[in-house]
Amino acid sequence: MNYKVNIGLEVHIELNTKSKMFCNCKANFGDEENKNTCPICLALPGALPIVNKDAITLAIKTGLATNCNIENKIIFDRKNYFYKDLPKGYQITQFYNPICKNGYINLESKIINIREIHIEEDAGKIGKNNCIDYNRAGVPLLELVTIPDFENAEEVIEFLKILKETLLFCNISDCKMQEGSMRVDINLSVRKDNMPLGNRVEIKNVGSFKSIKNAINYEIERHINLLENGYTINIETRKFDENINKTIFIRNKETIEDYCYFKEPDLIPINLSNKFIENIKNNMPMLPQEKRKIYKQKYNLSSNNINDILCNPKINKLFEDLVSIIKEPKEIANLISGELFKIINENNLNIEDLQPNINYISNLISLLLNNKISRDTYKNVFFEIIINNIEPISFIEKNNLYLVTDIDVIEYTVINVLKNNIKSIEDYKNGKEKALKYLIGQCMKEFNGKCDNNIIKDLLLKNINNK
Ligand SMILES: [Zn+2]
Repeated sequence: MNYKVNIGLEVHIELNTKSKMFCNCKANFGDEENKNTCPICLALPGALPIVNKDAITLAIKTGLATNCNIENKIIFDRKNYFYKDLPKGYQITQFYNPICKNGYINLESKIINIREIHIEEDAGKIGKNNCIDYNRAGVPLLELVTIPDFENAEEVIEFLKILKETLLFCNISDCKMQEGSMRVDINLSVRKDNMPLGNRVEIKNVGSFKSIKNAINYEIERHINLLENGYTINIETRKFDENINKTIFIRNKETIEDYCYFKEPDLIPINLSNKFIENIKNNMPMLPQEKRKIYKQKYNLSSNNINDILCNPKINKLFEDLVSIIKEPKEIANLISGELFKIINENNLNIEDLQPNINYISNLISLLLNNKISRDTYKNVFFEIIINNIEPISFIEKNNLYLVTDIDVIEYTVINVLKNNIKSIEDYKNGKEKALKYLIGQCMKEFNGKCDNNIIKDLLLKNINNK
């Protein structure tokens, strides 16, 4: 029997705002418990919410980056439920009028449609010793809801990677899944071919790309097994346990009516002018998907190079700044993919702490491209720039690292080496290519490696042929 899988996602994204959604408390992660609270986010009687303009701006940016229509009117609703980490007994959200609607993200082979993106506030969390920590209560969140267009785990991961890259490059969220600033709920159903959508199971809060992939694959198999054996699928909420690599039943799915949604009476609707939205649009950075195209088509970079250059906005800025000075994208991409990541990994560096000096690096690349230094020197001095912020030109002069470029000096050495290696000349003339390599090596030795390989090779051949 053939089965079809439909997967939809609900992605919660914590926004990079300084303060919370409806008060001035800091929206920091990792602060001392209950440090960032006030009467508004603790829901003390009489306290009224005030909307955070930065959060609205970031929500619009997200909508524009994902091809959504942006609503001109912002209206909030109440979602009523009782839980100990929710001080008000309700969450302010957008149920009836989400700020962004009908967007999409292009994958390599298909389009994934986005139903809506709405703004809401986060709940608190259970801290140490089972005490409740309200630092997170009221932190601005976006919830992005897709249409169930995904058919397998690979498409889901591709979508989430593009989304994460986009949010990082637009400075919308830090997307740290381990800190909960990007959380994914998976809605999955399986049906027999040509049948309507099957019963849907929700897997809540899956915390890493690897777990998302494993949870989806496990759940598809579980559904197919049940259907094969004549069972029906229960509509329920499950969670993924990383230790046993399985999903586990949590509860039967609530229906919409359970939450008794109604319009938030403490907040009047906000009208957004077209000018306000237009202004945000005009200040959007180039999206990583767009950059990817340029790097591939114009710069002809490999996929590995492109992934490395787009892994982090800071690394990307370094690449683009260098390309704007030295028009050699491939050389620069290789320096980042090879040497920079090697230094970062071997020295356990945090990308965010790097302060690379663009002029130092561009000067160093110029020296290499103009055959003034060897590739070994290039790598060693690059290390000194990244780790010790060493100025390359004076460092190279001081340590006498320039290549020998005086042709007369090189030829003199070449002739001397040939005089002392008559056998190798004969070997080469008899077709042994290795003999030439040996002769190059002998000359290099004389220059302590500080000479251009090709110049030595040319001079060797010229002098061998004269003999
Ligand atoms: Zn507060």
